[in-house]
Amino acid sequence: MWNRRDTGISMRFELTYSHVELPRGAHPLVFPFAGTDLLLASDARLPSDAALQELGAPLYTFRFGILDGQACEMRVWPRTHARHGFFSGDYRALWGCWPRARLDALCRARQLAAWIAWHRFCGVCGQAATLNRQEPSLDCPACGHKAYPRISPVVMGLVWKEDAMLLARAPHFPPGVYSALAGFVEAGETAEQALAREVREESGVEIRNLRYFDSQSWPYPHSLMLGFFADYHSGDLVPQESEIEDLGWFHFDRLPTLPHPGSLAFRMIVAMREKLATGEK
Ligand SMILES: [Zn+2]
Repeated sequence: MWNRRDTGISMRFELTYSHVELPRGAHPLVFPFAGTDLLLASDARLPSDAALQELGAPLYTFRFGILDGQACEMRVWPRTHARHGFFSGDYRALWGCWPRARLDALCRARQLAAWIAWHRFCGVCGQAATLNRQEPSLDCPACGHKAYPRISPVVMGLVWKEDAMLLARAPHFPPGVYSALAGFVEAGETAEQALAREVREESGVEIRNLRYFDSQSWPYPHSLMLGFFADYHSGDLVPQESEIEDLGWFHFDRLPTLPHPGSLAFRMIVAMREKLATGEK
């Protein structure tokens, strides 16, 4: 079996929008943002209400999910807002620091923060947009245009041949790290067409027999990663000069440094290694 399917993004984080009633006396868990930056206290915890009071009134406040039974609330200040005493929280840096369900909440919150930061004015007529309280939409009061949170599909392909998998490194990767090939789906393309094109462009290789593995929401800045395994079909390795620093076929027993353990790429590579090691292709 190649597929590994989850039924939701987490067992304990459930996404909602805006109207989450709180039991009497209960407080929401507040995720504060200055633009797209999550504001944290010095111990990597979410700041207290008292600390946030010092920032003054936020531009936007709304609920976006339920985490372990507690309502999650976004409060958004402008990017340029004074934020003395807070630290900027990065999603990747919080792996291993925060529980998985809280990271799932942050993954959603970070993308909603980007949506708000980049759609405050109507893209059609330039009027200031207003936040719709019924659905996640920034609405133009002048022309009626609606801007929903953007989601950008990215296809990732792990190609295998005999006992090896095709891994590559881009110049922006941490030193020594290799990963599966990936790229954005273009307008008008299917996921399968996009993957065949990306693998061809980046490596010179043709693939066949694509098999879906799993997906992952990824807040950089609003990607939906779609992971596929693929068989090598033909072609010699020719790295794309502008995007690929190095690439090669790596035997499953001699893999290079892998990407972040929280990433879909890591899970795919580990799953592929198990398949190649047991001969279950
Ligand atoms: Zn407008």
